[in-house]
Amino acid sequence: MPELPEVETIKRGLVQRLARKPRITAIELKCGDLRRPVREEELGALVGQRLTAVTRRAKYLVFVTEKFNLVNHLGMTGSWRFEKGGGHLKHDHFVMTLSDKTKLIYNDPRRFGLLRLVETGSDEHAAVWGRLGPEPLERDFDSGYLWKQTRGCRSSIKAWLMDQRRVVGVGNIYASEALFQAGIRPRRQAGRIKQAECKSLVTAVRRVLNSAIDSGGSTIRDYRNATGSEGGFQNLLSVYGRGGDPCRHCKNRIASNVLAGRSTFWCPRCQK
Ligand SMILES: [Zn+2]
Repeated sequence: MPELPEVETIKRGLVQRLARKPRITAIELKCGDLRRPVREEELGALVGQRLTAVTRRAKYLVFVTEKFNLVNHLGMTGSWRFEKGGGHLKHDHFVMTLSDKTKLIYNDPRRFGLLRLVETGSDEHAAVWGRLGPEPLERDFDSGYLWKQTRGCRSSIKAWLMDQRRVVGVGNIYASEALFQAGIRPRRQAGRIKQAECKSLVTAVRRVLNSAIDSGGSTIRDYRNATGSEGGFQNLLSVYGRGGDPCRHCKNRIASNVLAGRSTFWCPRCQK
């Protein structure tokens, strides 16, 4: 499942291709049977709208038009691509024809993705975004926030990091990697993380996410960026997916276990 760096990478690719802010001249919904069923009438309101921006909030891509936000979550296998001619592929579910004669196509074999149109400023708009925590790369996620929000919290620090109401966009891969860099065991109770550790954890989260964005995300299973190529961060992972392998820092074996239903990796020597 794509996490923040993958969605950010895809977003940057889309922003480049949509720099001239084309108008949407037609839409076609071939299959609306996604995670949340969607109908062609709902998305039809996009016709005539200009695509003014593509942004990211948490793990959502947001296609911004004059009146609407088309909110997209890629689920397990969603992807966007541009086509000049016909080029129809299996599992192409949604097609936007643009005024520059290209087609912007959403493909999703497993159909866990989300397409939802919300009117800017509506109650629904507020409801969609209201429950999300701060962005990890923005200023309001700092060591003071982490310290305050974890006090009295009895869940593990890894589960805390992955809770989108606490901080958005950090999934299993990047939570594991950031905890390694900060020297904190994933299983530690969030409420017991010390003040100095909060500081190093915030730094580690930012560093891990930024270097993943710099290398175009991690390709684990199906993720591809906007140009169809793989990310490179999977080659730089320190612990995730490396159970039994030597730690890159101390050569001790990386341990793995299941924590809160998710596979978890750590170095028993480097992480306390
Ligand atoms: Zn180690």
